[in-house]
Amino acid sequence: MKIAVLPGDGIGTEIVAEAVRVLEVLDLKFEMESALVGGAAYEAHGHPLPESTLKLAKESDAVLFGAVGDWKYDKLDRPLRPEQAILGLRKNLGLFANFRPAICYEQLVGASSLKPELIAGLDILIIRELTGDIYFGQPRGRRTAVDGHFPGAEEAFDTMRYSRPEVERIARVAFEAARKRSKRVTSVDKANVLETFQFWKDIVTEVGKEYPDVELDHMYVDNAAMQLVKAPKKFDVVVTGNMFGDILSDEAAMLTGSIGMLPSASLNASNQGLYEPSHGSAPDIAGKGVANPLATILSAAMMLRFSLNQPEAADRIESAVKHVLASGLRTGDIWSEGTKRVGTREMGDAVVAAITKKTITG
Ligand code: NAD
Repeated sequence: MKIAVLPGDGIGTEIVAEAVRVLEVLDLKFEMESALVGGAAYEAHGHPLPESTLKLAKESDAVLFGAVGDWKYDKLDRPLRPEQAILGLRKNLGLFANFRPAICYEQLVGASSLKPELIAGLDILIIRELTGDIYFGQPRGRRTAVDGHFPGAEEAFDTMRYSRPEVERIARVAFEAARKRSKRVTSVDKANVLETFQFWKDIVTEVGKEYPDVELDHMYVDNAAMQLVKAPKKFDVVVTGNMFGDILSDEAAMLTGSIGMLPSASLNASNQGLYEPSHGSAPDIAGKGVANPLATILSAAMMLRFSLNQPEAADRIESAVKHVLASGLRTGDIWSEGTKRVGTREMGDAVVAAITKKTITG
């Protein structure tokens, strides 16, 4: 098994280093190879996703990704900006299923903007379709309107579309994931207004018949956005399209109040995956050794579970993270009165120590 390690920019290098240490201490049999991506790759090779990095990603079983981007690249032509590397990897690896768990750790209930009773024990999984929908649909562009409210005026347009196989495969991913959890799927659509999402709803319902043990319900996206803040624990697995998933997964993630804690996975049909924290490269704290590495460490756990078939090792990492939080260690983003503030490296040390069952200090 081979892992491509792509730390990227900003805090990416600091947090990925800790995840790599955690993987190493598990003493599993895999090879790890690093490459540049994002702004770092642009500086060295003139492109955010050089051929050599893409080749490494393609021939690996999984990609462990840090984060890319820095405001200093905002003036570059769009194809050369660091963030294009993520889109290039998604496209080239066919990563169509994005998993974004939103878990509220008992010790971090206070970090949420919601009341503790609404959030305690929260464990939901948003599955977002990642390669279709209005984000990729053609045609798109600008033109002069020939009809509508203002014929003759300048207008812009995009195309929302989904094919049957695209909906079927993401629906199956959601039902399979639900089987391993509490066997409930909520499919989020806008079938009352959009033809594309009536089609989506019909197909998810059809696929659902293959999974009689999984309970399926449907919800309009506006109601889902409301229910996520009103009663988030009523959800288990949520499956939705690219655009709705983009918005709802960020909303769900922020329910937990701690961006530095949230992992994510993007998988293709053969379970090859890209694993990354849900946050960005945080240029404001880069190089200071204060970033929270836990989202990346938890992404490594997802990688072991989904792409490398090592569920027990994944459990060990997740238990170690819970243990470290219970011991009171906190990076700045999740610190509160009565806990001990630590830096990136110390947090990584503590997870490594918990895995190897050494005493945790602090
Ligand atoms: P960000 O997620 O990088 O940072 C938002 C805030 O959260 C900042 O205050 C930051 O310090 C804090 N933060 C983020 N991760 C943290 C961590 N692990 N520990 C502690 N605090 C943390 O978002 P942004 O500031 O909007 O974007 C910065 C750059 O990252 C931009 O160039 C953006 O394009 C890029 N970005 C990249 C990805 C990615 O690589 N997948 C995702 C989002 C943003």
